[in-house]
Formats: sequence, structure tokens, C-alpha cells
Amino acid sequence: MTVRVRFAPSPTGYLHIGSARTALFNWLYARARGGKFLLRVEDTDLQRSTEESTRSILEGLAWLGISDYDEEIVFQSRNADEHRAAALRLVREGKAYRDFTPKGERSDANVKQEIAERARTAASEGADHRANPYRDVPLEESERRAEAGEPFAVRLKVSPEGQTRFVDAVYGEQERAHSEIEDLVLLRSGDLSPLYNLSVVVDDIGMGITHVIRGQDHLTNTHKQVLIYEALGATVPTFAHLPLILAPNKAKLSKRKHGEVVSLTTYRDRGFVPAAFRNYLALLGWSPGEENKELMSLEELVGLFSLEGVHRSNAVFNFSDTDPRHWTDQKALWMNAEYIRTMPLEELLPMVRSELESAGLWRAEYEGARAEWFGRTVELIRQRFITLKDFSGQGRAYFADDFEYDPAAVAKNLKKDSALRELLPGLAERIEAVAPWTLENTEKALRDFAEEKGVKAGLLINASRTALTGQSVGPSMFEVFDAVGRAAAARRLRAAAELV
Ligand code: GLU
Repeated sequence: MTVRVRFAPSPTGYLHIGSARTALFNWLYARARGGKFLLRVEDTDLQRSTEESTRSILEGLAWLGISDYDEEIVFQSRNADEHRAAALRLVREGKAYRDFTPKGERSDANVKQEIAERARTAASEGADHRANPYRDVPLEESERRAEAGEPFAVRLKVSPEGQTRFVDAVYGEQERAHSEIEDLVLLRSGDLSPLYNLSVVVDDIGMGITHVIRGQDHLTNTHKQVLIYEALGATVPTFAHLPLILAPNKAKLSKRKHGEVVSLTTYRDRGFVPAAFRNYLALLGWSPGEENKELMSLEELVGLFSLEGVHRSNAVFNFSDTDPRHWTDQKALWMNAEYIRTMPLEELLPMVRSELESAGLWRAEYEGARAEWFGRTVELIRQRFITLKDFSGQGRAYFADDFEYDPAAVAKNLKKDSALRELLPGLAERIEAVAPWTLENTEKALRDFAEEKGVKAGLLINASRTALTGQSVGPSMFEVFDAVGRAAAARRLRAAAELV
């Protein structure tokens, strides 16, 4: 049997990182099992679904590198006729019934509440709670009333006895007594628009889905869906529900409460490397067992992924609302830094290019006459960077003269010793005279100058770092001299004397 899975987002907003994780797990499972990965846009809520949301979901999946859907994208709203036909077939087969309760008198919500109440009383009294007067109307009468134009809803006839059962690939054996499930509405009264559980099941059958992998918040719907599969005489797929992703205080993560941190595009916009974020998402609720690995290439993830490795306990997304350095999960930031530091340089360079472009720092020569310099400089500075934004932020001094000085660095490295006011222009002269321009010669020039002036080389090294880059930390200083270049280095040393 070929594995067929689908990601089925509702395009009613942004792509939540939990949904992105669901998409990724489906993708990984399909690729690990040589199966098909399909996308179904569940756009049946016409009021809330927007094209813009669909576009942003598609963009998010493309950014994550998992948009190689194996078949045409399915738009659920286009299948409404099939959903309706399936429900009406169940009516003809006596597995569902028309409910002619006038709409004005009892809205769906009222009916639901009433039935739930009746179920509660009945459960306590041990009586059959399915007292809907239309449940047992003979089919001929039901057809006649429908033909005469009387409005109706369609409900599934849930047997009062017994229970639904399925084995979830993550959460194990699941069971629910029928007495706890109402005769669920399949088609709404009036326009006969299909309801969510019906649409999902009919589409999953139509698309030949073998494994339904989705968030744990759908676990309770699954019992109802199993009843619909059974009524339709279809094979029930394997279900695998994924643990929730919670905020640090264990609340459900939502954009309303937690803001941009839950939206996938935030990570793209804030300088994440797609592969790094994908790697991070893969570990939200899954681990590769024995191996206990964290940094995994896509091939490794595919090789190691299995539903057995999915956790039952909810994942916690650790971030702080108040500390900007901790704006998202520390592990995500750490992982991004690892990717930036270790990924093949030729894969990183185009990302740095777009970052510099959007900051107005890109120059064509970085891919022409200065390509070698550009590669070397990125290699040098990437070691300490956390996001791609750092290339235009902390790293700005490598690409422009108008960078900012970190006030703490100025206080620590420039203002600390007033002698620097004279020393820095002197050092600038020595730097200008270095010949040939090599790391060793620059280092020698600086150390000789320190010795002549009777100061520690460290004083000049730290001051130079802040003078040349505005920062107090960074790569080896002689490499920085080289990257910034002789003329700019001398100019910046002189300018920094003014800050002392
Ligand atoms: N459209 C549903 C959601 O976005 C998913 C339904 C499913 O995966 O079965 O939560």
C-alpha cells in the first residue's frame, strides 16, 4: 500500500508554527515511506477564508522547502457537491436522516445544546437520549417532505449502543461511547452546506489518504469521523495525532495572545535559515530515538523519521515577552546560529546577499571583482552570528562606513584610557605603512607600536575592534583589519580617537 498523506490547512489567517510542524511531519512521513504528500486547502468557511491567507500558507511551505506536492492542490470548497451527495446517500441507506426541525425555532446551536443536555440526563437515567422526532421518519415521507420544499438538515444516525474505537499511532487505543456522541449534523438546514467532519472524511476518502497526521486538538473530532467512515463503508485510515505546542505558561500558543512569534513568516522575516527552522520544528514533539541527535540534514530527518518517535507530551515553546534577545525559543536561535556557522558557504552567500540587498548594503562587486573578499568576510563573521539579520546589523561595518558604535563597547574599549586619543592616530599611520599587507605584518605593526609606546597590545587590539566595527566582540582582530581593508581601517582609527 502506498502511503498517502495530506496537509489540510484552513486559510483563515497566517501559518501557525504548529501547522507548519504538522505539514513537515506529513512531508517527512511521506518521504520516509516513499509515499505521496498532498495539500488540501480547507476553504469551506467562506467568510473567514481568504486568498491572501492561502498565498501566505503556500509561501510558508515553499520557504520551508516542503512544497513539492505530489498532486494538484485540492480546494475543499470545490467538492461541496460530492460532500452533499455522500450525506444524501447515507439518508437513502437509512444511516442518516433529514431533520425538519424549523430553523427559526431551534438553531443548530440550540439543537446541539438541547441534545447534549438530553444526553446528560439520559446517561444519568440510563434511557435512550436520541429523541429527535425525525430520526425514525420513514424514508418515503422524508423524501416527500424534502421534495415539497420543506427545509431540513441531515444528521448521522449514531447508534445508541456501543462505542467507536481506533488506535492512534501516537496516543494508542482510543474509545468513546456512542452515548456521548450526538447525531451529528452533516448538512446544514437550508442551504445544505456540508459540515466540517463530513467534508474532511469525504475528501480524505476521495484522495485515498492512508494516514491522517494532524494536531492533537482534532482527537475528539476523530471519533465522529470514524463513524462517518463506517457509515460510508470506507476503510478507516491510520490516525496519528501530534502533541500540542504550548507557551511557556502552558497556554495554547496563539497569535492573539502571543503575537508574531507563532507565525511562520516571522522566522523568515527575522533572518532564519529555512533548513535551521525546519530542523528545529522537526524536534518539536519528535525525536530520533537512540541517536539523540539534534542537528540533522533533511536527508537525515527523512532517514530517521517515524511516527513511533512522536511524543505524547506537549512540546513547550520557550520564549520571553520581555527579553528581546529571547524573543523566540532559545533552541531555535541556537540552531539557527549553528546552521549559519556550519552550513556550506556557497549556500549561505545568497542568503547574505538578500539580507544585504534589503538593507541597501549590497554591491555588485561582491559577486564580481570582490567575490573572493566577500566569501572570506562572510566566513569570518558568520562564526558568531545568530540570524541573517546580523550580517546587516552587527556586521554592518564590514559592508559600510556608516555603522553604529555600541555605547557599551565605546565605554569599555575607547573611553577607558585617555592615552588612546594619541595612540589611535599613531596606530593608523603604522597600519597605513604595513607592507606587504598580510595578517602577520599587521599584527607585527600593532605589537611593535604597543611596545614602543609602553602599552599592552590588548589595549590597542580592543580599541581597534571597537574603532573598526563598533563592537566589543568579534573575530580575530588581525583578520578584521584585513577584512575592513587598510584605508578604511586607518580612517576609522582616526575617527575613533574623537570618541575617546
Ligand atoms: N483544517 C484543519 C485545521 O486546519 C485540519 C483538519 C485535518 O487535518 O483533518 O485544523
